Amino acid sequence: MDCEICFEPFSDNLGNHVPIIFPDCGHSFCKSCVDSLENRKCPKCRKTRFQPHEINVEVVEFIQTNARPVCGGCASEYNIEGNHNPRILPDCCHTICSTCIDDIADVEIGCPTCFNPNFISLFDSECFIKNYLLIEIVRNY
Ligand SMILES: [Zn+2]
Ligand SMILES: [Zn+2]
Ligand SMILES: [Zn+2]
Ligand SMILES: [Zn+2]
Repeated sequence: MDCEICFEPFSDNLGNHVPIIFPDCGHSFCKSCVDSLENRKCPKCRKTRFQPHEINVEVVEFIQTNARPVCGGCASEYNIEGNHNPRILPDCCHTICSTCIDDIADVEIGCPTCFNPNFISLFDSECFIKNYLLIEIVRNY
């Protein structure tokens, strides 16, 4: 699994090639490529980025364990188009499955990974951006 800009493999440490996710579009690139970007547009889809980017921790966990990715909320295996497809929580950039997003929206609790409470309850999961690198991992697992 390589960065699409520099073609270096993603790493699981906090070094130059750790995967960074853009929550505005769901695409991920390595840290050194993100650091060298000169504008706020995603190099893949050209969407302007407004939210801060974060480490794609679910992908880092996969690199470390090589275990099939599961949702931190319900422990279900992620799927690609089904009811456990991986969606990004925009405030903290953690990923949970679409079913958990819908459950969270119903009961207004925070992110199951970091307990971040600043979460808008009006959306359904279709409004949330997918974690595309995690989908690639699920597709190829
Ligand atoms: Zn790169
Ligand atoms: Zn993008
Ligand atoms: Zn879930
Ligand atoms: Zn979180």
